[in-house]
Amino acid sequence: MMDEIKIQKTLQPKEKPQLSELGFGNYFTDHMFVMDYKEGRGWHSPRIIPYGPLELDPSVMVVHYGQATFEGLKAYKTKDHHVLLFRPHANMERMNISNERLCIPTLDVEFAVSAIRKLVEMEQDWIPEGENTSLYIRPFVFATDPHLGVRPSHTYSFMVILSPVGSYYPEGIDPVKIYVEDNYVRAVKGGLGYTKTPGNYAASIKAQEVAKERGYTQVLWLDGIEKKYIEEVGTMNVFFKVGGEVITPALEGSILAGITRDTTIKLLKHWGIPVQERRISIDEIYEAHAQGKLEEAFGTGTAAVISPIGELNYQGKIISINDGKTGEIATRIYDTITGIQTGVLEDPFNWTL
Ligand code: PMP
Repeated sequence: MMDEIKIQKTLQPKEKPQLSELGFGNYFTDHMFVMDYKEGRGWHSPRIIPYGPLELDPSVMVVHYGQATFEGLKAYKTKDHHVLLFRPHANMERMNISNERLCIPTLDVEFAVSAIRKLVEMEQDWIPEGENTSLYIRPFVFATDPHLGVRPSHTYSFMVILSPVGSYYPEGIDPVKIYVEDNYVRAVKGGLGYTKTPGNYAASIKAQEVAKERGYTQVLWLDGIEKKYIEEVGTMNVFFKVGGEVITPALEGSILAGITRDTTIKLLKHWGIPVQERRISIDEIYEAHAQGKLEEAFGTGTAAVISPIGELNYQGKIISINDGKTGEIATRIYDTITGIQTGVLEDPFNWTL
């Protein structure tokens, strides 16, 4: 049995930011959730305390060896002021998949979701209510042994912090320009690609910077071995509509199993739109474009929900998709997911909690 969550309230609540200045990941709420792990004792001492800096030993293992995992999900407020979390169990189940791979002790999913719920309820005045805004939830676990030498840590912290956010990309739901990366790779099968661990993001920054310098918002990642098959777009899963059918790369170990990806596939099937998970080469997409069959391309992820792709640049060959406009399917998925998330639309799949 897990201990009861102890609560210590802040004596200095912060001023909340204006909706117009939110951006993404810039502001944090008044409180955070913390729980510790010790070998032999398990997870213990769950608590909600004032948000603030951590004091860590400089030898703490996470800083040196990156043994850590994280998640990202969102909370919304309905018009009648109910707090809704979107598929929180899916996120915490995925965190356990990441934890297994990183030799980090798993969490009790029900307890973790209830802890998130409690923190979000306490901070509900921080949930912004403007269009395209939400409260982003960041659970994370990290190795805390003060030790040098590569081995699994014996102690860990699990924490949850909350950030009121607006659009992830300044473009919002407007299409972005994407650079097809054929030099740097993000992950390979057998590696960490299917986990949400800091190293994957560290590995991606360089290519993202180079793409930015070239005037592109993000990169399209190709597989780490043949640099031929499409994997993900930035930190999103990727979908294409080709000749009336929707296709997305299959999960083969180097791709994160996005929750928005799963949501999108379930919605498409529900609507009777054919959708296939399979290998997709970059050449296939360029050929489909040449034949006039490439109808749409878009990324899916918690942060932006849907981000249409208006242009691809692969080895200097530039193609425009759907005349650089947001496509019908992308719009329908965006409207449906955000409608369910905010309680405006019915939730036939029981995704909100
Ligand atoms: N791929 C990567 C690498 C990501 O970081 C994310 C964001 N979590 C996604 C895909 C999309 O996953 P989700 O829909 O669960 O946010």
